[in-house]
Amino acid sequence: MNNLAASFPQAHRTRAETVRILIAEDDPFSRRFLTRTVAKWGYEVETACDGDEAWEVLRQENAPRLAIIDWVMPGLNGPELCRCVRQQKTSEPAYLIMLTGKGQTADLVEAMEAGADDFATKSTDVRELKARLRAGKRIVELQDDLLRLATRDSLTGLWNRRAILDALDCEVARAERHSTSIGVILADLDRFKQVNDSHGHAAGDAVLAEVAGRMSNALRDYDTIGRYGGEEFLIVLPDPICAEAATVAERIRTAVESKPISYEEQALSVSVSCGVAVSDREQNLDADELIRAADVAMYQAKAQGRNRVNHAPSTDQIGAI
Ligand code: GH3
Ligand code: MG
Ligand code: MG
Ligand code: MG
Repeated sequence: MNNLAASFPQAHRTRAETVRILIAEDDPFSRRFLTRTVAKWGYEVETACDGDEAWEVLRQENAPRLAIIDWVMPGLNGPELCRCVRQQKTSEPAYLIMLTGKGQTADLVEAMEAGADDFATKSTDVRELKARLRAGKRIVELQDDLLRLATRDSLTGLWNRRAILDALDCEVARAERHSTSIGVILADLDRFKQVNDSHGHAAGDAVLAEVAGRMSNALRDYDTIGRYGGEEFLIVLPDPICAEAATVAERIRTAVESKPISYEEQALSVSVSCGVAVSDREQNLDADELIRAADVAMYQAKAQGRNRVNHAPSTDQIGAI
């Protein structure tokens, strides 16, 4: 799970209708033929004329998840390209089919040892290629399903605890590398047990899902939110200024209390208390210290009457917590 963070922007995507595929082939005739054939099968095709260009495409974020790769090409050859792709840290790996004029068993073994998932020769009937692509598509979709299951909270659709903590670790490391600041917000629903006790667990679940949606909508694209615990949410804010983190928390708080939540003809009013902690370039707090500071601030917000935002004390005080 170490590499989840690398795929955070992607993992919440819903499944695309058409699957994108890269065709890496230096021979113009074969490239055109393959492009036309594969497009007819319903795939969205991108092409590369040599191995280096193919690597440029496959290394980018949101790269095609299927690729048909020629062996002999200028720049990186097929096996070299496979090795580059396999060294990538990603939880959304591309499915690579080596399509080559070479047809010996030793070639197949070499291609697959380099990281190809499948192997076909150029003399192969296109119907066989179509069947192999379908198998590849199935594997890619399975990988996506598994990733979603491993990283998403099923009730709210937000990142689950493990994934949001991975995202935090990733941002803390980035902040350390680039000497930038990082902020976290811990948001805890107020007197949520009463919602369950008075209206039932199903009502509580509906409230949690609605609150999660409201909080998500109150965030910017580059802020990350996850369900940290039962009715607690963790928001990671990359490189914010302190005032901005508190403003984001205030936006979240307002979004939650803005209007009652409808559940089976009832109107349920809920609110949230937020603790904010920011580590600037000098402080360099680690993930645990940031969460601890936000947690203390959140409990102070509770003590001060709930439905409010409270900022963590300065670093010197955090050290003494
Ligand atoms: P406070 O303002 O101090 O945070 O009070 P609270 O009632 O929110 O806090 P407490 O920790 O006493 O209760 C949290 C409740 O959240 C208890 C638990 O049953 C409920 N809860 C946790 N996860 C879920 C869930 O997935 N669904 C539902 N319906 N309730 C949940
Ligand atoms: Mg070639
Ligand atoms: Mg709680
Ligand atoms: Mg609570």
